[in-house]
Amino acid sequence: MNTIEKSPVTELVETTGHAGSEWLARYSSSLMGVFGTPQRVLVRGAGCLVWDADGKEYLDLLGGIAVNALGHAHPFVTSVISSQLATLGHVSNFFTSPTQVALAEKLLAISNAPAGSKVFFANSGTEANEAAFKLARRNGGAGESGGTPRTKIIALEGAFHGRTMGALALTAKEAYRTPFEPLPGGVVHIPFGDIDALRAAVDNTTAAVFLEPIQGEAGVRPLSTEYLKIAREVTTAAGALLILDEVQTGIGRTGKWLASEDSGIVPDAITLAKGLGGGFPIGALITFGEKTSSLLTPGQHGTTFGGNPVATAAALATLHAVESQGVLENVRTVGAYLRRELADVDGVTEVRGDGLLIGFDLDADIAPAMVTAGLEAGFIINSPGPRTIRIAPPLILTQEQADRFLAALPELIATAKAQTTKDAK
Ligand SMILES: *Cc1c(COP(=O)(O)O)cnc(C)c1O
Repeated sequence: MNTIEKSPVTELVETTGHAGSEWLARYSSSLMGVFGTPQRVLVRGAGCLVWDADGKEYLDLLGGIAVNALGHAHPFVTSVISSQLATLGHVSNFFTSPTQVALAEKLLAISNAPAGSKVFFANSGTEANEAAFKLARRNGGAGESGGTPRTKIIALEGAFHGRTMGALALTAKEAYRTPFEPLPGGVVHIPFGDIDALRAAVDNTTAAVFLEPIQGEAGVRPLSTEYLKIAREVTTAAGALLILDEVQTGIGRTGKWLASEDSGIVPDAITLAKGLGGGFPIGALITFGEKTSSLLTPGQHGTTFGGNPVATAAALATLHAVESQGVLENVRTVGAYLRRELADVDGVTEVRGDGLLIGFDLDADIAPAMVTAGLEAGFIINSPGPRTIRIAPPLILTQEQADRFLAALPELIATAKAQTTKDAK
């Protein structure tokens, strides 16, 4: 069934009976052109499937970029969000609510945070990192009593931490940064995964080191456990904060609550967002231990929407479903299966990632053409680089659905190669 039942939404906007092309024409005359032309107009989803305005079905292997952890329209998450909204939707941070407190406690528990650890809620990944940036500035920044001012913040080449000014200063990509300079100062980017460069860069003027355990936007590039351990050692020795951006890798994406879990390190802070609300916007900064958790004092940071009852209920529902429905186990099994099978596909030269955050390289610059071929064949995938494909499907992807993609892959590669050759002529 690919029609939408009559709902209050359809009384406001006619969601069926208009072709995708018509919506796209209206889109281009009403929405700011920062995203390029949308690939499709989507009208409905269920589990790992979505349907477009023209009635075509897709297997969603991108999950809204690692956001739809439980797929689309998950019944439990949907009913929790609806009932919370029907009870109490928003209160401002002059007040709190049971779902906000319960979610903070739950996040501290799943991240194995020591006593004194705390949570700050935001609405997105960039906002969680913005809060972490301010936390870093408070770690012995200029103007603190005594000692050398800590003005340096270290991030990695290839890093993506978001698009607001502080998070953008942490992001490495020149095309994103240059048009908006000057950015908040003091950020230094060092080569990815280079332990010597890290040792050389961290000193007693360093306020913080920001790391993604697996760089998602850079094409799914994991940092080694050794690198994370040494990062912990050198930051501790220098008095710098180690801040892990788990916006993309957190909340079960790798088959564990956190991608950094295996390394055994205790960071000073973790940022979360994408999968946390099961599709509902929410971000979080978790600070570890009493000292780091008291760097930001009353009045130094805030938000109107962050941690509101509906967003925190959505996240509680997501965490509960992940826990009670064997989702982490599914991510490990289906993820390992997919990565193993992908490595055997003709034309695939390398497979990277963990759980259901997977990047694979092709033997030619055909990744963008593969995204197009995928859409035509009913698969949503993503190309973070000219020869790299990323998939980050809902964590409930079945092996059968994985097999559907694997079976189609040789044809997608052939189509993309033919198209790329044709375009070059
Ligand atoms: C997506 C992402 C962000 C930014 O999140 P937004 O919600 O888009 O602001 C930050 N860090 C990482 C690692 C991400 O993947």
